[in-house]
Amino acid sequence: MLQIKNLHASIEDKDILKGINLTVNAGEVHAIMGPNGAGKSTLSAIIAGREDYEVTEGEILLERENISELSPEERAHKGIFLSFQYPVEIPGVSVTNFMKTAINETRKAQGRDEMPANEMLKMIREKSELLEIDRKFLSRSLNEGFSGGEKKRNEIFQMAMLEPKLAILDETDSGLDIDALRIVANGVNRLKSEHNAVLVITHYQRLLDYIIPDFVHVLMDGKIVKSGDASLALELEEKGYDWIKQEIEA
Ligand code: ADP
Ligand code: MG
Ligand code: MG
Repeated sequence: MLQIKNLHASIEDKDILKGINLTVNAGEVHAIMGPNGAGKSTLSAIIAGREDYEVTEGEILLERENISELSPEERAHKGIFLSFQYPVEIPGVSVTNFMKTAINETRKAQGRDEMPANEMLKMIREKSELLEIDRKFLSRSLNEGFSGGEKKRNEIFQMAMLEPKLAILDETDSGLDIDALRIVANGVNRLKSEHNAVLVITHYQRLLDYIIPDFVHVLMDGKIVKSGDASLALELEEKGYDWIKQEIEA
């Protein structure tokens, strides 16, 4: 699904990613953990195609196609979804209308017809029920006055509606109470199939109690310095990151 080869990136001449290699197969969930400032958000933004970073070396492949030169919109249309750490507010545009537009824009870019209105309504009903989203919530202005939990729930709703091939959740767990966390995790787990993959970026292990990753990678100072299975996340929770630093130095 996703292949990252020797990815180097910088911002304002400061090297941030220093040679990332990562392969994520369809059907897999990978977690990326690491201390603050390690480059986790940079990595997710670059996969999604955000242009404020300069990729100086390496490439990114989605289903074996090199997408390194594509715009964020083109990547989204190919099935990459990135949740935002700080979602934007769009006053006057409801959650539902935003979603309808997003879906139909995607379909148009893929050369498909608009989704029939009844099919759209059915999908909205199914997905909002799955995520325990209130009807009233769907008619509110996008992100306007949303609580942290509501923003996150809305992101997961968008993800569930768009059915991406590669979903990247960047710190989706921050600011969630335990019920919202369970709902978000539930949404991700239901979305999971052998046709898509999920990249969960998190500072804390907590979310990984609910979304069990197949692989855990530790990102430190722009490099993946250690990979393992779900037990690595528990070890990090218990011991922090310093022991890995010492391991590398030794
Ligand atoms: P993480 O998500 O792991 O906390 P980030 O990817 O946000 O890390 O940041 C990695 C490094 O890049 C940090 O040192 C941060 O200060 C720097 N950085 C990120 N975005 C910018 C920016 N827009 N301008 C300057 N430096 C940045
Ligand atoms: Mg950070
Ligand atoms: Mg971050």
